Amino acid sequence: MKITSVSAVYPNYNNTPPSWRTHLWQIVVRVETDTGQVGWGYGGGGKAAVEVVNGHFSEILVGRSVNSTADISDIWDFLYRESIPYGRKGIAIMALSGVDLALYDTLGKAEGKPVAILLDGTTEGRMRCYATGPDTDWYAELGFTAQKMPHLWTGDESIATAVGSAEHARSVLGNDAEVMFDVYMSWDSDIAIRMADAMGHLGIHWFEDILTPDDLQELGTLRSKIRPINTAGGEHEFTAHGFADIASARAYDIWQPDITWCGGITAGQRIVEMAKAAKVAVVPHRGGEPWGLHLIAASECEDFAEVVMGTRAAAGDAMWSGAPEPKSGYIEIGDAPGFGVSPNELLL
Ligand SMILES: [Mg+2]
Repeated sequence: MKITSVSAVYPNYNNTPPSWRTHLWQIVVRVETDTGQVGWGYGGGGKAAVEVVNGHFSEILVGRSVNSTADISDIWDFLYRESIPYGRKGIAIMALSGVDLALYDTLGKAEGKPVAILLDGTTEGRMRCYATGPDTDWYAELGFTAQKMPHLWTGDESIATAVGSAEHARSVLGNDAEVMFDVYMSWDSDIAIRMADAMGHLGIHWFEDILTPDDLQELGTLRSKIRPINTAGGEHEFTAHGFADIASARAYDIWQPDITWCGGITAGQRIVEMAKAAKVAVVPHRGGEPWGLHLIAASECEDFAEVVMGTRAAAGDAMWSGAPEPKSGYIEIGDAPGFGVSPNELLL
């Protein structure tokens, strides 16, 4: 089949997502083919990425064949090359991610296969989830056995606050629970070492985003100083080219590419291969959403899927219908073709 149209929209979200950011800026990409097949993808980059898709990618994609995963990989390389002057990272790659995912959804639907099966993976079995957010008691009620809590450094009192939250999580979620911290680039190396010392008795799995993604050398040095706590990061990095820099600096124990930002399934697969060679684990950012889930099911990512829960009271926009929901701390993929989801047309 050949591509007849590619278009992107920035949805009319009503609610601010439960996140560090006031704008998560997720875009929706639609692909249609000459066989009448329609596929949907999810990207980042907001209205600027919409312009990249509608003003550039759509023009050069019409007429291209999409009959195999190899075709999608070739299209990825083509779009990457064409956008080099203004791309390589950031908004252009967030736009490319949406296109790549829409192409995978299209191919999966055309072949009647879930994306994980297209990738020679499996849709069987269930994956453990971790809840991201501060609401430990709610996550315990829902049956989660793993939590990642947000933490921002505000001064020396932050150490006691963090230790108190971790002790509470350990006591509520149990001894076998995984407890992690996402500090969103608000710590420095000295703080990380002090935190690791203060939490030595709590079995913390990882500290995430300790420094900015530009501090790779320092992160590489810090890694051995806070063991056995792991360092995690990568949601702000793009493509296998970017992760090659992370690999050469040995910056993290756990890589966290965001499949809707880093270049889609195509980039995700290349990053997972690179992680294998670097002997590090991959736990995709927002891996409990359909796009990350299919990659986890089809690759050597850890079977550990992030679900951004926020708080009990937080309102959200139901952008996609058909997405699997976590039950008792585990999630199952389902066997619907493509990514198995459709967008809420009311928001488009
Ligand atoms: Mg994070």
